[in-house]
Amino acid sequence: METITLNNGVKIPQLGLGVFKVADDQTLIDSINAALAAGYRHFDTAKIYHNEDGVGTALANADVKREELFVTSKLWDNVTTYDETKRAFEASLKRLKLDYLDMYLIHWPSAGYNEKWRAMEDLYHDGLIKAIGVSNFEANHLEKLLTTAKVVPVVDQIETHPYFQQTTLHALLHDLDIRHEAWGPLGQGKSDVLTNPVLAEIAAAHHKSTAQVILRWHIQRGEIVIPKSIHQNRIEQNIDVFDFKLTAAEMIAIAGLNKDQRGSSDPQDETWLA
Ligand code: NAD
Repeated sequence: METITLNNGVKIPQLGLGVFKVADDQTLIDSINAALAAGYRHFDTAKIYHNEDGVGTALANADVKREELFVTSKLWDNVTTYDETKRAFEASLKRLKLDYLDMYLIHWPSAGYNEKWRAMEDLYHDGLIKAIGVSNFEANHLEKLLTTAKVVPVVDQIETHPYFQQTTLHALLHDLDIRHEAWGPLGQGKSDVLTNPVLAEIAAAHHKSTAQVILRWHIQRGEIVIPKSIHQNRIEQNIDVFDFKLTAAEMIAIAGLNKDQRGSSDPQDETWLA
């Protein structure tokens, strides 16, 4: 598995398994076991997914050393203060049955994020988190965060797929040395991106699926990517993207598919965040 070196020197496997909307039951355990067998070592959960417990159980029972695993969780928006952040982190860590977290993210730029970041910096300096980052932060949120931050976020995890390419934010993150991490990388089943004819033609040329072409496109853009599936064949397929390369012309053709078409909530929507 290719790794990316984050701005603090920590290495993250470039592709991981997302577990949003996976129930905290045997389905989750089976998915994680299938992913581990296929070579995944990076897992992306969040407090709000209500499945940290099962992720922790599956990983505790796995025959893989802790230092080979990369586990991310996220701080939910109900938390608004320094002290609450520390308590929420401890609770996540406990549910995950871990003694440190590889990466912890502020899930959305909701109230109090500068204070929440200060708590995360302290947890990071205490060695309880190896890398701290943000999610769904746009230019204005990053600018405000960086007025008080002492530690620069390692990643910004943002919605990204061929119909919503985040071109401007991608360039800004590059300039800030913050890695672009793509959520909803396959479009979350909310559009026809997986049957797009341009992608289908590229897929046929490489004897790959459209999903694999999309994931390869993310990887060649230098993004970290966390596709979700609970099906063994798709879990295996989604990590099988390191044995082919898209040509420059194919990358340009995919760039041409951008419609700036968001599939989920807008981080600028103050009403939703309040
Ligand atoms: P996704 O784009 O990964 O889409 C997942 C869906 O795509 C699956 O449910 C399945 O229907 C389909 N799929 C997966 N593999 C396929 C394949 N090989 N062929 C055909 N169809 C396939 O969407 P997602 O789960 O929302 O995003 C991935 C991860 O990103 C999440 O699981 C979560 O960890 C993270 N996420 C983060 C945020 C955030 O706010 N930070 C928001 C949403 C998701």
